[in-house]
Amino acid sequence: MPELPEVETIRAQLAERITGRTIREMEVVDAKLAEPATPEALVAAVRGRRIDAVTRRGKYLIWEFPDGDALALHLRMTGRLHWRPGPPEEPPPFLRASFDLDDGATMTFSDLRRFGRAWMLPADPADREDYWRGRVGPEPLARSYSGRDFAQAVARRSGPVKAVILNQAVIAGVGNMYADEALFQARIHPERPASSLSDDETKLLHRAIRDRLRVAIAHGGASIDDYRDGLGNKGQMQEQLRVHLHEGEPCPRCRTTIVKTRVAQRGTYTCPSCQPRHPGRSGS
Ligand SMILES: [Zn+2]
Repeated sequence: MPELPEVETIRAQLAERITGRTIREMEVVDAKLAEPATPEALVAAVRGRRIDAVTRRGKYLIWEFPDGDALALHLRMTGRLHWRPGPPEEPPPFLRASFDLDDGATMTFSDLRRFGRAWMLPADPADREDYWRGRVGPEPLARSYSGRDFAQAVARRSGPVKAVILNQAVIAGVGNMYADEALFQARIHPERPASSLSDDETKLLHRAIRDRLRVAIAHGGASIDDYRDGLGNKGQMQEQLRVHLHEGEPCPRCRTTIVKTRVAQRGTYTCPSCQPRHPGRSGS
């Protein structure tokens, strides 16, 4: 499932190619993409609009139009947004929508599992803020996002720390893969109550989340499943994963065998030595 680094990779690629372009035509192949709007309403809102900027909020990709209007796209599990300099030779499998631009380029939105969505955001800035509030928390890579902000959000929550950092309202854009990688880097067991973390641990985790997301962006995201970038290519971050999907392999730090468990209903990979469940207690 695309997480922040994967969506950011696509955003940067599209921003370079579609900023300033006008959408000549949009075709909705699968009405589910536009739900709860109708395909006709979505096409009417998008057709003829100029894309002034391509931005991102958490895992949401946003095309900003003039007058504050914006189209939001969410890839969810298996969505793929693919830019091409011209029309595709043949429609990609599981095509849900396509866009023709005024320079002859095209974009296709394909989605095997059909959870992906496209919809118009509120144009009024205050309404837009209301819309994001509760849905998406602070951007972890924002310069202004401090370790203190993170510590305050985490300290109030008694649930497992992994569930807390997967909560998009607490911190935007972290999914299962980067949660595992960040917790490993910070040497924190994913089932520890978030409120039990020491000041040093929350500091380490804040740093680890930002570090792993930045490294992943530098590697063009991770193609462990269906993910392809905005040009149809695989990312390289899958080769940099240290514990996620490495069950039964030696920990890269201490050689202990990596285990897979379930935390927050998600397959979770940890090193039992580097990430003790009861830190400080011998034999934990
Ligand atoms: Zn280890």
